[in-house]
Amino acid sequence: MHKKLEKILECIEDIDFILNHNEFVITQTIEDKILKPAIKMNIVRIAEEFENFNNDYEINILKNFKNEDLKSMSDIYSNYGLDDTIVENIVKNHLPTIKATIVKMKEEIQKSKTRLSEKNKAKLKELEIFKNNFRIHILNGWTDLVFELGKNIEELCKLANCGLPKIEYIQSKYASLRFDYYFETPVPKIVEKLIDSLIYQAEDKSERICEFCGADGEIRIKKSTNWYIAICDKCANERNDLVKIKEFGN
Ligand SMILES: [Zn+2]
Repeated sequence: MHKKLEKILECIEDIDFILNHNEFVITQTIEDKILKPAIKMNIVRIAEEFENFNNDYEINILKNFKNEDLKSMSDIYSNYGLDDTIVENIVKNHLPTIKATIVKMKEEIQKSKTRLSEKNKAKLKELEIFKNNFRIHILNGWTDLVFELGKNIEELCKLANCGLPKIEYIQSKYASLRFDYYFETPVPKIVEKLIDSLIYQAEDKSERICEFCGADGEIRIKKSTNWYIAICDKCANERNDLVKIKEFGN
């Protein structure tokens, strides 16, 4: 996710931590000299990040937030510093909605990663072979692989002077590409054999290409659900509970 948003979230979580972890006895001195300045410092940091969004004209991000929340932050910049009343108002009335907005944006980003984007769907549809509707369940990371495969099959059929096959489905199964097709009119056996070997090569490659981002990856398994995914180290680090296939069962 956006670095500035991560920073804001971190600061809000720090403030939550300060407010919710009062197991020790808080004297007035501790409150005045440690807790309040710590909370204020975090609020100023949050306001700074919002100011950076403004300076960089990141309207697409800012438009997700409520106007009154944005105003509470810009006010810190334009006027009178942070007295206790302002701090209390921000902590009570603005930080919870700011936090909820960022968490929601984060979820949206995660969700969008778990399906093929419209842009990548459109890219595949550029090929004649993928023009018709068929079932496709892959993630964005395999777009180039599937495009390449489709293009190779098209070229082969052109060389062999036969029509294009119909695609039945394209999907990821056990972190490996599955590509099913059929010909409506019979073609020479050798053409089918060659297509099958192109598919076989792509299947083999797919297990080493991250399904999320397309970088070099390997198969990992989600222990709790036995879900298989081809994934790179970076994307695997953003998720938990994934083990490499060779370590599975140990
Ligand atoms: Zn990745």
